[in-house]
Amino acid sequence: MLAAVIAADWSPRPGYSLTPEEERTRMARSATNAWRNPRVEMNRIPDPECGPEDVILRVAAAGLCGSDLHFFETDAEGYMKYPGMARFPSVPGHEVSGVVMEAGSATRYLRPGDLVCLDDMVVCGRCDACRRGFPNQCESLDDVGFTMNGGCAELLRVPERNCWNVNALAERLGGREQALEAAAIIEPYTVAYNALFECAPRLKPGGYAVIFGAGPIGLAALGLLKSTGAARVLVFEHHPSRRAIAERMGADQVLALQDESPESVAELVRRHTGGAGADILVEAAGAFTHTLPIMELSMANGAQIIIIGRDGHRASLLLENFQVKKANLIGAMGNTGHGTYPNVIRMMTAGLLDPRPMITHRFELADFPAALAQARGRQGGKVLLKP
Ligand SMILES: [Zn+2]
Ligand SMILES: [Zn+2]
Repeated sequence: MLAAVIAADWSPRPGYSLTPEEERTRMARSATNAWRNPRVEMNRIPDPECGPEDVILRVAAAGLCGSDLHFFETDAEGYMKYPGMARFPSVPGHEVSGVVMEAGSATRYLRPGDLVCLDDMVVCGRCDACRRGFPNQCESLDDVGFTMNGGCAELLRVPERNCWNVNALAERLGGREQALEAAAIIEPYTVAYNALFECAPRLKPGGYAVIFGAGPIGLAALGLLKSTGAARVLVFEHHPSRRAIAERMGADQVLALQDESPESVAELVRRHTGGAGADILVEAAGAFTHTLPIMELSMANGAQIIIIGRDGHRASLLLENFQVKKANLIGAMGNTGHGTYPNVIRMMTAGLLDPRPMITHRFELADFPAALAQARGRQGGKVLLKP
């Protein structure tokens, strides 16, 4: 089958201490500390074989995400920027939809012909985190598109338990093709859903919300907040094309940030929230040193700051402000478990969420390098590969 294959050089940084497991498997816990000089080739590789508990999908669409771009963006020494677990050579692609081609002998719920979306997190179910109800913190996670071959290929082998049936979406969206495109971007919605409704302890309808960053995660948060009764959603975003998508997806106000002081942006937030400040503040920009000082000054009483974007820099906050305002700072990561996928699928099937305005570019699988170049501009919406 045809696949996009990423290769890189195994070259642990001086000073990075490898565990014996990393040494043996070359599955780096932190790719940026071990893998350098990434490159991609379109290759013919053997078709995957179906294990008893697996399904083989014919991939319909795979979305490119910021994490995929971080494989290819390198620092001065040539190390990739991706901070999480990864092993190479491997096929990227964790935002995936497809049609079941083959179902292993021990599968129970899926049959050939079913339309599915992928839950990329293959949690172990056995570690302390999994057994305590923290699947997103699994201590021995496999992740499709990171530590296992992903969906930028014609075929994909995944455990049956990592697929969700989306047959019902075809009826709502008017056909299988439309359903499979939408299903490929369920994943960013699950990331936002997990943050807003699983990690944040109490979001109430009627809140004023501010989202920093209108990439796919910020846009997904926008859709979820509007459909669950946020009174007003304000979005901050640099790129004009992303601002236009946020407008199409129902933002009440979309603004660009230049070099204003945190105080003046907070003043702007208060102006757009009847003087109250924001109840819900979503970090989806991964620019903590820039956004957190603004968020801290924009909080209403009882505000919740929800951190979804990723940024390795330390940010400073005056915690006194959190005490005075009875405010919360909430860390969110991952997207699996807790009914997150099925609830997002139900919302799309019910017409409460429509991800389609987010899709701005489609490429054939063979054009992976061009798709990557488009996505690396970080200007439009979602880039889909369609094998
Ligand atoms: Zn992603
Ligand atoms: Zn686990």
